[in-house]
Amino acid sequence: MKKIAILGSTGSIGTQTLDVVRNNPDLTVVALAAGSSVEKMEGQIREFRPQVACMWTEEAAADLRSRVADLPVKIVAGMEGLLEIAVLPDAQVLVTAIVGMIGIRPTIAAIEAGKDIALANKETLVTAGHIIMPLAKKHGVSILPVDSEHSAIFQSLNGEPADKIAKIWLTASGGPFRGRTSKELAHIQVEDALKHPNWSMGRKITIDSSTLVNKGLEVIEAKWLFGVDLDRIRVVVHPQSVIHSMVEYVDGAIMAQLGTPDMRLPIQYALFYPDRRPMGGKKLDFFELGQMTFEKPDTDTFAGLKLAYQAATVGGSMPTVYNAANEKAVALFLNRRISYLEIPELIAGAMEQHKAIDNPGVDEILQTETAVYEYIEGKVND
Ligand code: NDP
Ligand code: MG
Repeated sequence: MKKIAILGSTGSIGTQTLDVVRNNPDLTVVALAAGSSVEKMEGQIREFRPQVACMWTEEAAADLRSRVADLPVKIVAGMEGLLEIAVLPDAQVLVTAIVGMIGIRPTIAAIEAGKDIALANKETLVTAGHIIMPLAKKHGVSILPVDSEHSAIFQSLNGEPADKIAKIWLTASGGPFRGRTSKELAHIQVEDALKHPNWSMGRKITIDSSTLVNKGLEVIEAKWLFGVDLDRIRVVVHPQSVIHSMVEYVDGAIMAQLGTPDMRLPIQYALFYPDRRPMGGKKLDFFELGQMTFEKPDTDTFAGLKLAYQAATVGGSMPTVYNAANEKAVALFLNRRISYLEIPELIAGAMEQHKAIDNPGVDEILQTETAVYEYIEGKVND
């Protein structure tokens, strides 16, 4: 029996993780955490019977507590609650399916408590990879990628040493606006940006996919996960999203992982690694697919990707600025307070005014986040 805890259980990755649990009776859920979706959480508690559940606000936790008073589940709240779940003695694996930098502290706490991490929350690695990766090594825990591209790289590596890697090829669908010009992007509305051609995901990552910021975050995520320099991580646009990413070795051999776009595969692979389990769902049909195509990303129109390389090249606290500025800008765009093209503009502006701190600690990372939020609020209210 493998016991797992899930942060962000009511979201896109969280609910698909629970689907994997439904299909594998030797997985048990010991803890769940969400933001404000009390009703969904109640349903999950009744179905999966965790020991502990967490809601972000005390108010939501109180509501949940009264709804599940008939069950032996402890309800906790806020960062304290997330940290309690992260170190829960019974849990072996923590699935980090929460969105944003809020995942940093629980991930660190879980590693220190010796839990393996099934990592979906890329913002944590982007901003604190220099802390997370050495810490995981020190505590002998595995960071198992859930992000489909990184799972594909992990599967294509299959234990080969990093010094045999010539390049990592991250594939990108190109998002819903592939091929458009900046002029055409000026009037993009929230509804347009939320229509991803191949994947159904949470709102924030769907916007990030349309701006190519998601791919930028993934470049930095790959750098930390696989210990490969930035200049050996390339992005190739592959609109069919069938090749999930590739590893090119020193001898020119390229290994890839292919499949239909279904996040349950990387989730299940992370939870059972190195085992492979049967999985339902539609399988890849090469005859139906017919062809696969590839393009260079248009980094002039989609500046989000170029800015990620710049942030990672500077390093230190700059990737935090890139990520925090994007988190804030996307939230403002979703609330219709800024236009679509202001997202990369605000990221670029925030990066320009920031003096990077070398090797920032968690407090400095979180202070940088706050400072970036304030900078952007000031800009938008001007
Ligand atoms: P969703 O927005 O669908 O879900 C986010 C989850 O986090 C929800 O359960 C939400 O709860 C919870 N949450 C939000 N704020 C808090 C908080 N303050 N405290 C506790 N829980 C909170 O996001 P996704 O599932 O799409 O993405 C999750 C992470 O996985 C992101 O980092 C994303 O980049 C990454 N990822 C996602 C992929 C996908 O296919 N969706 C693919 C690869 C990576 P509530 O419902 O109550 O708001
Ligand atoms: Mg991805």
